Amino acid sequence: MSDAFFTEYFYYKSLGFTAKIKKLLHSEESPWQKIDVYETERIGKLLTLNGKTMVSELDEFVYHEVLAHVSYAVARQHRRVLIIGGGDGGVVREFVKHPDIEQIDLVEIDERVVEVSKIYFPECTVGLSDPRVRVLCEDGIKFIEEKIDPGSYDIVIIDSTDPEEMAEGLFTDRFYKAINRALSPEGIMLAQTENPFLDEFGLKKIYDNLRAAFPSVESFTAPIIIYPGAYWSFAFASKKFRGTDLNPHKQAQMQKLQQTLRWYNMDWHRGAFALSNFHRKQIGQE
Ligand code: SAM
Repeated sequence: MSDAFFTEYFYYKSLGFTAKIKKLLHSEESPWQKIDVYETERIGKLLTLNGKTMVSELDEFVYHEVLAHVSYAVARQHRRVLIIGGGDGGVVREFVKHPDIEQIDLVEIDERVVEVSKIYFPECTVGLSDPRVRVLCEDGIKFIEEKIDPGSYDIVIIDSTDPEEMAEGLFTDRFYKAINRALSPEGIMLAQTENPFLDEFGLKKIYDNLRAAFPSVESFTAPIIIYPGAYWSFAFASKKFRGTDLNPHKQAQMQKLQQTLRWYNMDWHRGAFALSNFHRKQIGQE
């Protein structure tokens, strides 16, 4: 397999991301999706779902640090955290670094993603054994709509696959309204929202859906080199706060933590919310 390559095709199958692979380490069809793990030549181990890149050892820290610490640094309350999707465990790993979080629920539809990640990405799943973490293998949409009392969580993270198949419903106004109800009065939601350039899934519609559910909606980006086009956007939605409203009481704590992180620091956080004209237009921001 020495000259073999993995390629994910995107943007209506007109572009691609390619990685030279040393070995296919694992391949299976779970009830939900095809799960593959490759040993690559340059980006370490690579997890793909239905042929789409999810996690590489080279850059997973960017995505996972960003989702966890941007939300935590702004949050005034942070006792209970919910992550929908995210079966690789990377976002949980970052949240467990905050000792004052009491409960972290991970709701991943496909338990095989969790199990495969435990074998091949132990550095991502290390937080799953923390006593504050509950791993629930079920549909995040049903979970939030049918099982959760209003105000149950302070932070909700949507760490999903693309808006298609079982993840399509994670990008609707109905779902975002259900998240709003599940959040406490000062609650915050973050979600991955695709590439604003290669706008295959209708970014403006996703942000319109968010604006229908939350009074404060913003967007920011971070580079994820294995995702289509590398320029990746995230949504920050809140009942009360803006993305740059860092909690002044957490400054010392975040200052200390950021010395141990590889991507996140508070300067980057503030700057990430300054958007280009292009990005504003793509998300329909006035
Ligand atoms: N960071 C990745 C990305 O953007 O490419 C996402 C990583 S994570 C592995 C995405 C997870 O979302 C998948 O494991 C998938 O099974 C899960 N997922 C998709 N739809 C879901 C749903 N309705 N409820 C819960 N989890 C879901």
